[in-house]
Formats: sequence, structure tokens, C-alpha cells
Amino acid sequence: MSKKTTTTVARSVTVLARYELKQDYTDSNGKLYKAGWVILWVENDRGERYHVTLRANGDSCSCASRKCCYHVKAARATEDARTARQQQEVAKVERAQQTLARQLATAPALAGTEALIARSSLTSNHGFSLYR
Ligand SMILES: [Zn+2]
Repeated sequence: MSKKTTTTVARSVTVLARYELKQDYTDSNGKLYKAGWVILWVENDRGERYHVTLRANGDSCSCASRKCCYHVKAARATEDARTARQQQEVAKVERAQQTLARQLATAPALAGTEALIARSSLTSNHGFSLYR
């Protein structure tokens, strides 16, 4: 009995640069680039470099492959991890804000502070002094 073994060598892909389009752009060849696209400049383990374009309606790569290549898969994974990190950061900030709001709501009111503020004038003929 022979078992066919397929060895899949994981190719490494390094992201060299990330561009996120903020507005639509048409290049000198008339090619339209849409706002929201993310373009990653990637390099594989052989030093070959490609542009991977990530779009909501389908990703593409500048390499010769006609189907979904490992550049696109690696770029998509990198971008998804980045999005997840950002969402975690946002959630962390929101939790901190909620904690602070709760602490402020339950903090004991400073007795007489408002009356003291109402009595004190912001402008006077006197120079600054700790004592009145
Ligand atoms: Zn590719």
C-alpha cells in the first residue's frame, strides 16, 4: 500500500508597506483605484515583490498566478489580524471610559465646592495669592 504524500512548503511573505486609499484615484493609465482599498507591497522568501490589493469584492495580486495565490492569503491574514488588534484597542478604551464614568458617578460630591466657585471672582485687582 502506498500513500501519496504531498509536501506543502509554507512560503513566507513579508509585508514591506501598507497603503490604504482614502479617496478614489485614477492613475495615468486610466485605472481606477477606489477609496477603502488596501494595497500591500509584499516580498516572498525569494526576494520577489508584488502588490496585493485587498478589496471588499475580491482581492488580487500582481503576480502571474490566475487563482488566489499565497501572497493574497498572507496579506489577507495580516490585514485581518490588524483589524482584530484595532477592534481590541477600541474595546479597551471603551471599557476604560465606562469604568471612569462609573467612578465619577459614584464619587462623593465635594461639599460646598459649587458655592465656593460661585463666590470667587475670576478677575480682581489683587495679584495671585494663596490667601485672601
Ligand atoms: Zn500573488
